[in-house]
Formats: sequence, C-alpha cells, structure tokens
Amino acid sequence: MGLLFLGTPLQWEEAKKYADHVRSHGITQFLYTWDRLKDRQGDELLWGDEVEYMVVVFDDEEKNAKLSLRQTEILAKLRDIVDDLSCNKEQQGTIPTFHPEYGRYMLESTPGSPYTGSLPDLISVEGNMRYRRTLARKYLKANEIPLSFTSFPRLGTPGVFTEPYFDPADAVSSHSLFLPEEITNPHARFPTLTANIRTRRGSKVAINLPIFFDRNTPRPFIDPAIPRDRFIYPEDSEAKNGAALQDHIYMDAMGFGMGCCCLQLTFQSCNVTEARRMYDALVPVGPILLALTAASPFWRGYISDVDCRWNVIAGSVDDRTEEERGVKPLKDNKFVIPKSRYDSVDLYISEDAINRPEYNDNPLPYDKAIYDRLREHGIDNLLSKHISHLYIRDPLVVFSETIDQDDTTSMDHFENIQSTNWQTVRFKPPPPNSPIGWRVEFRSMEVQITDFENAAFAVFVVLLSRAILSFSLNFYVPISKVDENMRTAQQRNAAREGKFYFRKSVLPTGRVSGSTTPCSSEDGNGNTPKEKKLRNCFPAPPVPEEATPVEEEYQLMTMEEIMIGTKCKSFPGLLGLVDSFLETLDLDKETAAKIGTYLDLIRRRSTGSLVTTATWMRNFVRSHPAYKFDSVVSQEINYDLLVAVDNIERGVRKEPDLLPDTYCGGLHDEGCL
Ligand code: ADP
Ligand code: MG
Ligand code: MG
Ligand code: MG
Ligand code: MG
Ligand code: MG
Repeated sequence: MGLLFLGTPLQWEEAKKYADHVRSHGITQFLYTWDRLKDRQGDELLWGDEVEYMVVVFDDEEKNAKLSLRQTEILAKLRDIVDDLSCNKEQQGTIPTFHPEYGRYMLESTPGSPYTGSLPDLISVEGNMRYRRTLARKYLKANEIPLSFTSFPRLGTPGVFTEPYFDPADAVSSHSLFLPEEITNPHARFPTLTANIRTRRGSKVAINLPIFFDRNTPRPFIDPAIPRDRFIYPEDSEAKNGAALQDHIYMDAMGFGMGCCCLQLTFQSCNVTEARRMYDALVPVGPILLALTAASPFWRGYISDVDCRWNVIAGSVDDRTEEERGVKPLKDNKFVIPKSRYDSVDLYISEDAINRPEYNDNPLPYDKAIYDRLREHGIDNLLSKHISHLYIRDPLVVFSETIDQDDTTSMDHFENIQSTNWQTVRFKPPPPNSPIGWRVEFRSMEVQITDFENAAFAVFVVLLSRAILSFSLNFYVPISKVDENMRTAQQRNAAREGKFYFRKSVLPTGRVSGSTTPCSSEDGNGNTPKEKKLRNCFPAPPVPEEATPVEEEYQLMTMEEIMIGTKCKSFPGLLGLVDSFLETLDLDKETAAKIGTYLDLIRRRSTGSLVTTATWMRNFVRSHPAYKFDSVVSQEINYDLLVAVDNIERGVRKEPDLLPDTYCGGLHDEGCL
C-alpha cells in the first residue's frame, strides 16, 4: 500500500455519489501524465521488492502462537530507528522503508532505494532483505517475531489468536463471524474499504475453500466452528442460509485475504513500449510462480485442499453486486463482471505484432465512454481497453478533503481506481513530480520463510525479465489459458502434479538462445555487456513468420518441463533461458556462485528434489504427534509449526526437503546495524 492520506473517508452511500467524478478526473489525470511522459525514453533498470511479514507473539506457557496487533507502535518505533540511521551519511540509500498493511499484525518492507541493474546490486538483494528483517526483529518485544509467512493458519478460529484478544462481536466494518474489528489496520482507509465493499456488494464476502479430507475428517464436513446462531449483525444469517458451503472452509471477511503476506517485485522499463511488452510477458509467468511459491494450505484452523492464497484474496474484496455477478438481471448496474477486482489480468496490452488479437480471448467489459475518450485523445486501442476495463470499478474509498484535485499535478483519482484493481501484474504509470518512469509490478508470488528463498525468487524473476528483453522472448498463450493455469496453480501440490498451458516455442524465429543475441551488441546508450549491467531496453521483436493456428502454439506442460525445458529442443525452459542470458554476461566467480545457489533452489523446487513451502507445511502438520488426521490445525500444532518456521529461518532447524544443506540461516547480528 502506498502513502496513507489522513482525512475523512465517506461511507458507501455518500462515496458512490462521487464515483463518476473520481473516474472522470482520474482519466483526466492519466491523460496529463500520458501527454507528459508517453515519449519519455532511456530510463535505466531500477527495481525493488516488497516483502510482507506477520508479527507473531509466542506464548510458550500456553503453547499458543498469536498475531501481535501492535503494528502502530512497531511502525512508529521503526520510523524513529530509520530516522536515526538516516543521520549516518554512509547508511543513506540502504535504510529500508517499512509500510503499514491491511492487517494490524502486518508489516511490509522495501529497500531504501531501488536496486540498479548492476550485478553487485543483484547479489545484494538477500543481504538487503536480511537487514530489513534484522531491523524489524530487533525492535519488537522479546517474544514477538516478524515471520514472512503467507497466511496465518488459525486466523478466525474460536478462542485466542490475537494479542491482545478481541471478540469478533465488535466487527463493525466487516460484520464477520470470525474476525474482530481490531484485526484491521485502524487507519480510516482500511475499515472504510472493508465496510464499503460489504455495503456495495449487498452482503458479506463469501469465500469457500474445499477442505482436505484426511482419514478421520467427518464426511460430510459441516464446520462446527461457524457460529450459525449468532445474531448481532443482519448478515449473521448468511452462513446458515447458503453462504457457507458443506465440505468447505467458509470465510466471510476482507481480513482473510488482505491479511495474507506476499512477495512483489517492481521493474522500471526504459519506456512505455517496453513496459507494455514486459507486462504481457510476465502475465503467463504469474500462475507458474504462484504454484512454485505456494505457501498457504491452512485456513481458519483447517487443512484445505488448496496451496495458495490467491482465490481467498480475490473473494475477500469481491465488491460486485448480484447484478454484476450475473445472479440477477442488470437493472441498477452497468456491467456483468466476470471477476473480482482482485484477480488475474484480462488483457495483453503490447502493440507488438507478436501479440496476436486471438490471445485476448477473455470477456472484457469496459466503459465505452471512457474508452472513446481515451481513443479521441490519441491513445491506441489496447491501452484504452486496458484502462477502460480497470475503470468499470467504483472507487471504494473517497476522502471528503480530496474530492477536488488539481488534475495537472495529481494522480490520486487515477490511483484510486488503479490501485484497487489488484491483478497478477500491474502496469504502473510514472507518479507525478517524481523521477520514476514506467514500471511493471509482478504480484502473484507467495512469500517464503527465508530471505534466501525470497531473494532467489526475486533474482530469478529479474533475470528472466532481462532474458525476455534480451532474446525477444514470446510467452503469449491465450489469456483464457493463463486463467486456467491460475486455477491449476492453487490446487494442492500443483508444482508436482499440475499441468499448465505454456508456449512450445518461445524464441523468435532464426535466433538460438545463448548464441547471437541483441545483448552482444551495443544498445542505444552505448552500453556494452562488458559493463556487467542488466540492461533495460532492446530492439522490438521481429515480426513473426507465417502464423500457425493459435491452438498449435501451446501445450500442457508440467512445472519441470516449463522450468527445465521439454525434450523437444525448441523450449529450453525458463531456467534454461536464464542460464543462456547469464552466459552473455561474463560473470565473475563469486557472482556466478551466488546466483547459482539461487537458481539451484528454483531448479530443485521445480523438479521436486525440494518441496514447496505448502508441501513442507502439510507434511509437518500431518506428522505432528498431536495431529488427529481430522484436518484440524490445533493451537498446539500451530504453535509448533510457527516455532519451526522461525527456527528454519534462523538456521537452527534443518529441513533438507525444503532447503539446500548450504542454507545456514539469516544472521540477526546486531553488529550489522
Ligand atoms: P506498491 O505498494 O504501490 O506496489 P511500494 O512503494 O510498496 O509500491 O513498492 C515499490 C517497489 O518499487 C519498491 O521495492 C521500490 O524499491 C521499487 N522502486 C522504487 N522506485 C522504483 C523505480 N523507479 N523503478 C522500479 N522500482 C522502483
Ligand atoms: Mg503490500
Ligand atoms: Mg507496497
Ligand atoms: Mg501502493
Ligand atoms: Mg524479538
Ligand atoms: Mg506492491
């Protein structure tokens, strides 16, 4: 989440009166930015990660691991520390930033300034992440630990799962049966977002994840933990009137999804054209890396049959009305909308010839008036579609103080809609009054337990993104197939058992990976690969040859085939492409070795020689002596699991199925402060 504006947020009945105002001025703001920056060229590769943590309090006597709700104090403390550190000139630039997140137990950290494309920066990522974790750890209470952990297994269970305890009866924003009001960041934006989603939708959100049936799980599974007879809020009856499905884990609040942690990466492109190519190329990669980073099998105290957070978040902010969801015929609303505002990308946006119109095969409701306005302004079809598709949504939080803005200098109204379209990849226009250029954010990955793993995935994706540019790679498959991959990716053990649609031939015709590539010549700025910098801008890809039918361009592949390559030589696998790219860089020994350990982790996770975090967690719980094979993650098991997670991170517990032997733990050396 970006900067938080302090002001008076409007309740939905008031806010909705300004929906057209926000949309119309949002587009005006975008057009000012467009006119100013559409021709901006030559931005270097700058990039950065976002790592999210949940602060867990360990009660060793009760054997309970709970969520600490001290976000406000912790962030204030970290801000003071960071200010202190910033006085030290040498530290400037490395001082990290900590941000609030939806959950009152969550923290987000980003590097103090973005990494450049230099190789020393590339191999500094892990150290940077560790430094951030060390800072956060140091200024928490002795029994509090920030864990980079995707979903809290016992969020919303009866009993005590937060410190301090609050009763869900007080959930005035979400009306949840399970989560108290205090689970949410108290800044006005978050309770308002929660309440306005519920009000706009006309009911609570309803998420149902299939339960994992173990040998003693009752069949049918009718969850005894749902307080079906509570009557505090009018929506309390929803659960028993059909919202809670049998054989499923039912969740009814934004916090279940937005309370999850993830790992995101943002890359700056050299210009808007390159950003659009990068966006498209990363779209099909989204579900693949979701499956490979899968880390969230447990929900509301149960083992589910999914490994990932994605659909939970999608459901948790699904503000569509019954009309928009197609349950009732359209009357008051304008569109039937197939997806939640948190979901996978619906449209490829590059104007390259390799982006064949057939690939954009998803239904795409868009605001025709906004589309026409963008077109009349001279913006091409695809970008106009992209924006007018985002703009079918209403703004959810409107602050009375900022309804009127200077559209020539603000992007707030634009961002109001843009930043509440949470998709697998985000196309980010430059913010006003800043040196920042056109960027693309990769958003599908689940956060891993250790910074070694998080750095490995970050380094892998940044290298893949450079290989994409360097070799003019073509990853296009019909976007409806990417959606099928998103569904597959979340299934239990998808990294081993799933099959994903992927393109058979990703190299442009006439070019063989690892040999002559655009990388061996100078770019427009006279940079040569000798400078050992990951560059950012490459010639447009060649026009494709004779078009083959789209259906012949892709096939179902396993994770191993996608990552390591298929027997047919045309597809070297994403790791093969990264290897070929690295060959062009002439790395020194130390850099090669470090990158090698990261790619090795990815390789071993892809082949199954190491398991995913989700699989490791399932194995941990199912082999716990207190587990009754009834799909329940009890308080005791949860405690032991989270103790184990902390011990793994610190390197005092070895898990050779999950991590290579060489992993010896994050250093939390106070000396490094
Ligand atoms: P958001 O929450 O809106 O996605 P954040 O500000 O939390 O954004 O994170 C943005 C990330 O982008 C950070 O890792 C930051 O280091 C990185 N970043 C900052 N400036 C640039 C830039 N010019 N180009 C690319 N990445 C950048
Ligand atoms: Mg975040
Ligand atoms: Mg952020
Ligand atoms: Mg933000
Ligand atoms: Mg501590
Ligand atoms: Mg982000």
